[in-house]
Amino acid sequence: MEETIKLLTEAFGPSGEEETVRSLIKELIKGKVDRIFEDDLGNLFVLRDGPSPKLMVSAHMDEIGIIVTHIDDNGFLRLAPVGGVSPHLLPGQRLRFRDGVTGTVYYEKIKEWKELEWSKLYLDIGQSDAEGAGRMVSIGDPACLDQPFKVLQGGRYMAKAMDDRVGCAVLVEVINSLPEQLPQAVCFVFSVQEELGLRGARTAAYRYEPDYGLAVDVTLVGDTPKAQTMAVSLGRGPTVKVKDSSVFCHPLVRKQMIETAEKHEIPYQLEVLERGGTDAGAIHISREGVPSGAISIPCRYVHTSSEMVDSSDVNYAVAFLKKLLIRQWPSVEENNYG
Ligand SMILES: [Zn+2]
Repeated sequence: MEETIKLLTEAFGPSGEEETVRSLIKELIKGKVDRIFEDDLGNLFVLRDGPSPKLMVSAHMDEIGIIVTHIDDNGFLRLAPVGGVSPHLLPGQRLRFRDGVTGTVYYEKIKEWKELEWSKLYLDIGQSDAEGAGRMVSIGDPACLDQPFKVLQGGRYMAKAMDDRVGCAVLVEVINSLPEQLPQAVCFVFSVQEELGLRGARTAAYRYEPDYGLAVDVTLVGDTPKAQTMAVSLGRGPTVKVKDSSVFCHPLVRKQMIETAEKHEIPYQLEVLERGGTDAGAIHISREGVPSGAISIPCRYVHTSSEMVDSSDVNYAVAFLKKLLIRQWPSVEENNYG
């Protein structure tokens, strides 16, 4: 598991540039699926056949990053965000382009820290003029944060793009360890462009037409000094999402999740995330509506170069998702609230 998380988090993959991550995932699940295909946006569909109802389980492959907007005469690059990136977290950080070109972010002189806007930031890739810099990068090139995966003392993991490669790693692990026969069909979707507004999951759900939707993603925590109050901590188990700003999780799905966790003695936390969304936000309003929920892995410092998770939460998330997929879900007729 550690190796998979390292491989996936260190890969390059800002929103819209998920190719490398997709290829890695295909390698990691080789021979373990019934069907596999991609759609035109780049979503990867991994199918396990079975009777109805149909479950869709989604984790997004993309990560936050930046895009180059301008190259000045002295070879400094100007940047815009890809997804929810704060300019305050970038000075001193290294950024990496697809082909390995690397630079560091710094900022123009400012009087107060709050003046630090995107227009004040620049990226130095070690070139001294526009020509040199232009040979290495072009306007519109995306870059991601550049930090290696680390295992900390005590079993916590730290990496860039833990959001949501750790979710992808959970799906990979589950795909590789599911039994031959499943009580219902499952489609694992490794989605694109979540960080730009759940875009990949929207088209994927439309195509697969699931009866139930589940997202596996990270969530914020309230267990750091003077954090925003939130009843989620690292190391106390994956969460059963109740709501975030993209979805109010369906009571039937939450019930399935809580029953499963309790039956198998999997520790879980109830999650109310006051800002932020996940693929379930797109899945549940697809077509006529899809009862949806989400498992989240508690994560500190989300959208920084050192997102931190606890290995026990990750391992329990694998066990939890596996039990959820082995369990018989109610047929769609039974689930008729109309
Ligand atoms: Zn995410």
